[in-house]
Amino acid sequence: MVQIDNTQETLLLQDEKYLWHSMKPYNPNATLVAAKAEGSWVTDAEGNRYLDAMAGLWCVNVGYGRTELAEAAYEQLKEMAYFPLSQSHVPAIKLAEKLNDLLEDEYVIFFSNSGSEANEAAFKIVRQYHQQRGDHSRYKIVSRYRGYHGSSLGALAATGQAERKYKYEPLSPGFLHVSPPDSYRDDCHVAHPGDLSSVKEVDRLMTWEHSETIAAMIMEPIITGGGVLVPPDGYMKAVKEVCEKHGALLISDEVICGFGRTGKAFGFMNYGVKPDIITMAKGITSAYLPLSATAVRKEIYEAFKGQEEYDFFRHVNTFGGNPAACALALKNLEIMEKEKLFERSEELGSKVLSELSRLLYNHPRVGDVRGKGLLIGIELVKDKETKEPLEVSLVNSVIAECRNKGVLIGKNGTTVAGFNNVLTLSPPLNIENQDLDFITETLVAALGVLK
Ligand code: PMP
Repeated sequence: MVQIDNTQETLLLQDEKYLWHSMKPYNPNATLVAAKAEGSWVTDAEGNRYLDAMAGLWCVNVGYGRTELAEAAYEQLKEMAYFPLSQSHVPAIKLAEKLNDLLEDEYVIFFSNSGSEANEAAFKIVRQYHQQRGDHSRYKIVSRYRGYHGSSLGALAATGQAERKYKYEPLSPGFLHVSPPDSYRDDCHVAHPGDLSSVKEVDRLMTWEHSETIAAMIMEPIITGGGVLVPPDGYMKAVKEVCEKHGALLISDEVICGFGRTGKAFGFMNYGVKPDIITMAKGITSAYLPLSATAVRKEIYEAFKGQEEYDFFRHVNTFGGNPAACALALKNLEIMEKEKLFERSEELGSKVLSELSRLLYNHPRVGDVRGKGLLIGIELVKDKETKEPLEVSLVNSVIAECRNKGVLIGKNGTTVAGFNNVLTLSPPLNIENQDLDFITETLVAALGVLK
């Protein structure tokens, strides 16, 4: 255990010297040096407590401080710390079986360590799958602008947020983008989901690029990091139909939407579709240890079962499916089931969504309040009529005010065209009712800085 024998000031100096932070420029005034966490609360090195309304990076689904999870990992580490999945081991088999239960169908599971890796594996699987079947021209992967799929070169190529990409290009070739549905800005009220302009765009792209070059489409059921874009109900199903029409597979990126975040085991379950491949990470262990998975429909896996060496999936992942991570994941899923956390997410999510919508209805800078389960976005605008996004410095002032009041909230969207204007909430699914009320009250009060 790390002993806290330094002041926050000293730690921040060391931090500045030694640590390279992800995503943000270094700012000692905004850096929180976390030292302890329990339930939905994080304590910094000086003993200040914060309610973590983002569950870390949308991932600590069962909350902090669950000793059962630490024990499950400890017991497994004592029993057998490691064995590669080029062979097999008990915790991986049991977890793969459990994931099949949750997926409610037959999927074969490939384990990795992060969401990016799970998506990379999916891209390689879809490309090889078509090759195995003699369909040699299919390699293009379609995704949406605003979507985020990871930081590695393929996953970043699939990502639709230019600001994360342009300094690292050229990325992996063969990735194409379409617009996502934006229910706040576009007219999404059509009689037929297939008539949605965002669905027609998928169809048009796949046609004009030539169907026989398209390998797959990857999408989150709800775009999360790109600004919590909840699609119209029939959208995902209509996209699946378009993919089928063009012979392309559908990959559902459930890295955030999975494991109860949207009120169901997986986000796609809200929309009555069966994806061909499902990628997952974060909530699978509630982030207590790194683990991710690529779940592949049985029929797709069957195409890899030839006798030749080049029929195999030639993709090695040394740490993927680490036994302790799998044992911990199993315990994590057991907790979710025992405490009915998917149902809780659905119930609390719709309560907090209607509460926030009511309280913020007349706020001049709140354009939209949306979400599903405990995944909520509040879109801030300069003007409710024009819907022009609010400038990021003002969005940041609300986040800073929430933190001053003891609540950590998120900001998401994409810098391109100024859409970095969506406040996000994604608390642990077992958050106490009074803590959820505290988040609502604090956010509503903090939005007062914009009036
Ligand atoms: N897909 C989605 C939808 C994500 O939100 C993320 C991470 N936020 C990833 C993939 C990549 O996951 P990781 O950071 O674990 O590589």
